[in-house]
Amino acid sequence: MEATWQEPDGIVVVDYNWCIGCRYCQAACPYWARRFNFTRPRLPEDEVNTETHYLGNRPRSKGVMEKCTFCIQRTRKGLNPACLEICPTGSREFGNILNPDSEIRYIIDNKRVFVLKEALGTTPSFYYFFD
Ligand code: SF4
Ligand code: SF4
Repeated sequence: MEATWQEPDGIVVVDYNWCIGCRYCQAACPYWARRFNFTRPRLPEDEVNTETHYLGNRPRSKGVMEKCTFCIQRTRKGLNPACLEICPTGSREFGNILNPDSEIRYIIDNKRVFVLKEALGTTPSFYYFFD
């Protein structure tokens, strides 16, 4: 068993039931992508979302590591991540970079793109782009 891993489609996930909160992964991540949950979740009963994914938007207990889940509960259903849907300027794109017909592939091939800390050789699949 493991508490964090990369899924076959590239999304890195955390199993909140297996994470012991040692924070080694937080120390190792060069992108500060991980955040430790210091507090107990305080969720009013009438605001609890019952449509959750085990590796996604379910409440996390105090003392576990969290990170962006790429809205796995949405993207595995073919929906866009919530932050993409809500972005008022359309600045975000999500998709399969291996699909030659995808918008994300078009952006990578036709815009000026860069990744953070390229010199580290971590080859992240998270790109920044501009015209
Ligand atoms: S904090 Fe990170 S390294 Fe430690 S158990 Fe949790 S996922 Fe693994
Ligand atoms: S809303 Fe965006 S930043 Fe938040 S988990 Fe979903 S994809 Fe990640």
